[in-house]
Amino acid sequence: MNFVQRSECPVCESQNCTTLVKIPFVAPVMMNFIQDYYQGRPDPSLFVADDYHLVECERCSCVYQKAILSSDNMDALYEDWVSDEGRKKKDRRRIKDMNTYMRDFKVLEALTNRRPHDISVLEFGLGWGHWSRLAKAFNFNVSGAELAEDRVANALAHGIPIVSDLSSVPDEHYDIIYSDQVLEHLPHPAAMMSEFSRMLKPGGFIVTKVPSDKGMSKKLNPATFKPAHDAVHPLEHINLFRRSTFDFMAQENNLIQVKVPYVEGLSRPVEFLRERKRGIQNKAHQSTAIFHKTRN
Ligand SMILES: [Zn+2]
Repeated sequence: MNFVQRSECPVCESQNCTTLVKIPFVAPVMMNFIQDYYQGRPDPSLFVADDYHLVECERCSCVYQKAILSSDNMDALYEDWVSDEGRKKKDRRRIKDMNTYMRDFKVLEALTNRRPHDISVLEFGLGWGHWSRLAKAFNFNVSGAELAEDRVANALAHGIPIVSDLSSVPDEHYDIIYSDQVLEHLPHPAAMMSEFSRMLKPGGFIVTKVPSDKGMSKKLNPATFKPAHDAVHPLEHINLFRRSTFDFMAQENNLIQVKVPYVEGLSRPVEFLRERKRGIQNKAHQSTAIFHKTRN
């Protein structure tokens, strides 16, 4: 079995959904995209029996791919198919391109009203550790969670402690759980949110960034749909979170959503207000949602 069919919404478990787009993976428009994007690495025979099938949940509005790669193939996707380009690009960045990290660190300080030294952070899905390494340099008490062995080794070499089994983390352990472009890749994002919530201290925050749903309604027209590296990227971005999806996740875990606080010097106030009009901060390609675990 190369793919697994998801019979219910990965966020709210509703089985009621509406099909938005359904195209066989072997259709030229899909197969050309996949082979181009992964530079011919996937075996085409993996895809013969399944469809790129995008549906919208009738209850929480999550948009999700019905057919997802089986766990072995998912490992192959992230360890063998994806190229090193993303990492190389990050390795070669200028200081101005890292302003967004600076902004994150200021946001964490503003949210908790504490100094980095006193803030324990788990970066979930730290990848090549660019964010965690800087967080460490700014004195945050940071550790990471990551599955891929080469990335784990890299993090350890840079002095970032790795949590290999989340279930071993005590309840109410971290002040901040940070995940950037991770939840959209997970077969069970809701289960992960409740794990985050369990590990979070009362008064703590989950800061999560996911691809934005901005402009997606127009894109999801079956007559004109084209696969691309965007919020509904085939195989990878298997969940797309809408505002009501985040609302559902917050409610389920007894969390409240808070706005991204304004931090000085890194974004012009007018732009900032425009970005955060919707509560979740919505930039062109990325949304930031912040969940707060209250003390009572
Ligand atoms: Zn749902």
